[in-house]
Amino acid sequence: MPTVGDRNPLAEFSIEIATCVAVSALERAHRMIEDRSKKERLARGVCPACWYNSELSGQAFTDWSCAACHARQPDWPNTATPTLCTPCGKKLKLCVRCCARVPLRVRKRTK
Ligand SMILES: [Zn+2]
Ligand SMILES: [Zn+2]
Repeated sequence: MPTVGDRNPLAEFSIEIATCVAVSALERAHRMIEDRSKKERLARGVCPACWYNSELSGQAFTDWSCAACHARQPDWPNTATPTLCTPCGKKLKLCVRCCARVPLRVRKRTK
């Protein structure tokens, strides 16, 4: 007997949840491609994946230190704290949260 919890994966409720997960992944992908807050995002030195995936993170001012210069960074306005401070991120051209290259070079812009 398979033991994937007590839930039947074919129950209407499970199908609804699976659909919601898929739809929100798709919506997130669309937001990343549209990149509507690009200016604000680049000012913070954050890659699209981090920016559009952390919109709903908790509001709390969290203490953290930069992984490159080790300076204390007191004021990040939510609980998803970055890895690098903004000057280091800019200098290294990396996302301050996940250290991906910014800009991401995954797709050629046609416009
Ligand atoms: Zn730094
Ligand atoms: Zn990132």
